[in-house]
Order: sequence, then structure tokens, then C-alpha cells
Amino acid sequence: MTLQERYAASLMNTFGPPRLALVRGDGAHVWDEDGREYIDFFGGIAVNALGHGHPALVDAVTTQLRTLGHVSNFFTTPPQVELAERLLALLPLSPGDAGRVFFSNSGTEANEAALKVTRRTGRTRLVAMEGAFHGRTLGALALTAKEAYRTPFEPLPGEVVWVPYGDAGALRDAVDGTTAAVVVEPIQGEAGVVVPPEGFLAAAREITTKHGALLWFDEVQTGVGRTGDWFAHAASGVPPDLVTLAKGLGGGIPIGATIAHGESATLLQPGNHGTTFGGNPVACAAALAVLDAIEREGLLEAAVVRGRQLTEVLLAEQEVTDVEGRGLLLGAQLADETAAQVVTRAQERGFLLNNTGPGRLRFAPPLTIAEADIAALGEAWADVVTIEDTP
Ligand code: PLP
Repeated sequence: MTLQERYAASLMNTFGPPRLALVRGDGAHVWDEDGREYIDFFGGIAVNALGHGHPALVDAVTTQLRTLGHVSNFFTTPPQVELAERLLALLPLSPGDAGRVFFSNSGTEANEAALKVTRRTGRTRLVAMEGAFHGRTLGALALTAKEAYRTPFEPLPGEVVWVPYGDAGALRDAVDGTTAAVVVEPIQGEAGVVVPPEGFLAAAREITTKHGALLWFDEVQTGVGRTGDWFAHAASGVPPDLVTLAKGLGGGIPIGATIAHGESATLLQPGNHGTTFGGNPVACAAALAVLDAIEREGLLEAAVVRGRQLTEVLLAEQEVTDVEGRGLLLGAQLADETAAQVVTRAQERGFLLNNTGPGRLRFAPPLTIAEADIAALGEAWADVVTIEDTP
């Protein structure tokens, strides 16, 4: 039996069959069970910020595991406290605003914690965005826009309304004195990398402040350097009340973080929330190694430079009509609904790509991806993206 067949016989079919069985990785390259090599332009869905097998990450994890592997939240550890302090220092806080962090193990859990913070305001109404993806647990799913994900699990925690992403007028109409929070991805990831119009995040701040609602940025996909800034919302200069992180933070080791500012930082009190693994020292040591490497290796700048290179490569073929996004989170619009075929053809030629819709590709490679890897895609691109009509 192949690994794929064994997978089909032993795992729940929640995602459809896996595209490949991968056995090894190095930087932006991975190998399948037959020894075929691929350049990874997907990064485990925007997770592998440092690529595969980065020595600093491997060292940090193995050293911490050897030193102290898990203690539960009855105790604390140096990596947990250090990581919370580092994250708070990376977010510009207002004077006197200390901020607080809650650690969990995934993006959806980071959002569950934020959702519980919003409930502690005493209000329950939430405003989210059309096209939004916030996760699969029931609270985060309640905020996720896609009907197909939501409907089988209804009733979900209620009182959520959605407004068109980027529409400040609609947001203004939807928020009032009963709104607990507005949740926004600063760039929508699962929707295919969609950037809101200039000024939208500032409008969201103004509207939420006016009505005493919290402004929550879900940076699970966009955070930790992916867009060339530590956080995608940094470019707007808009201070949120809540920020949620996961994906790139651990560079492949599961960790989520919910960061709260101002009054929202103390809304959760003892007994209100918890998780056995959250703040685990190995995961926190991994995240510290990721943050160190981003700084030491200039990966914020690299994300911008390599993102520009990748944009040029993609736009060189007229089948690509537009490239949206920032840094190394890019969405490419195709002239035709051929994205699935492009992904298959790319894989046959040794490139892992991702499609988020019939005519949309998403790129989220490691921030460490080499110029030569992007150039290699450039050489193959015309062949990969040109899908002839089949009779
Ligand atoms: N929020 C956003 C913006 C995401 O892109 C995702 C995952 O794609 C999530 C939340 C959920 O994260 P996880 O899959 O780690 O639960």
C-alpha cells in the first residue's frame, strides 16, 4: 500500500486526498517519497517562515526540549515570559499601555481567546468581513464568512454580521453601541490575498472608537514578517485593541498568540480561559528563534525584495492579469479559471503552488527563499501558467 492509500484508510477525510507524500525538506525545497524535489512556494500555508530545517530553529527546539519540555500553565518558564515581552515590544503601544499576551496552539485558538475577550466587554454583537477566514473551531467558525464551512455546524455562537471587506460606509452602518468588536484581517489570506483600500483600517479604528467597540486584527496569516513588516497593520499606523497570531510565529512548531492592548488586556481573569499546551516552552523557544532569525537575517527586507522579484516573474505572462498583496504574501489573478490546472502542472515541473479560487493563486513561500528559486519558477512560468483549451 502507498502512503496515500494508508492515509485514506487511517485518517478522517476532512481535506480530500493529499497532493503528495513529503518526506524531507531543506530551506525552500522539499522531497517526496520517490525522491522528487520541489520548490515550496506555499510554505505550509504561510507557516514555514524560515523554510525547512533552519538550524537556528532546530537548535532552539532541541535545546529547549532537552532542558525543559512542558510544565502546564500552573508554572511559567523563561521562554514564555521572554516571548510575551518580545511580542509586546514589537507592537507599538500607546504610552502607559502595557498590553498582555495569551498563548495557545493554533490560529483558531488564538481567535477563540480573542472572542472570549470580546464577550467580557458585556456586549455580544460582532462585525466581521465578507470573505473572512478565522478558523474552524466553533467560535472562530462563527466569524468565518464562507457558508460551506459554516452551514453543517449551525447553530454557531451568534450575533455576527458581515460587511463587504474594505467598505467603510457599510462598516459605519453596521457598528453601534451594542457592538463588542470588529474583526478584520489587514490583508485577507484565504480569500486569495486581498488588500483593503487605503484608509480602511483607519476608518475601522475611528468607527470602533466612536462606539466603544474593540478593533481586532486577525494577523494569523499576515503577521510575523510575512508582508515585510512585523505585522501587516503596521503599514497603516492604526493601533488595534486585539491582535491574533499563529502560523509563521513558530516557523512550523504549533503556537498561537492573542495580544490585547489597553482595557482589553485585563478583561480575561483567572478561570476565564486556559489551555494545557499554550505557552509551552518548546513552542515559545521556537517562536523566539523565528523572531531572532527574522532580525538577524534581515528577513523583513528580504520579504519585500523577494516579493518584488516574484511579482515580476508572475506578471511576465499575460495569463496573469494582476498581482495583489505585500511582501511574500501574494495573490495572482489569472485571466481564466485555470488555477487548479496550473497548480497540477507546476507540481509536475517541481513547484508547489496553491490555488484559493478557480482563477486565483496564492504565494506564501519561506521568507528565506533564494533569488535563484524564484528565478527557477520564472524560467518555467510560461509553460506552467499557459493552459491550452482541451476539447
Ligand atoms: N485566521 C486566519 C486569518 C487564517 O488565515 C487562518 C488559517 O488559515 C486561521 C485564522 C486559522 O488558523 P489555524 O488553521 O492555525 O487554526
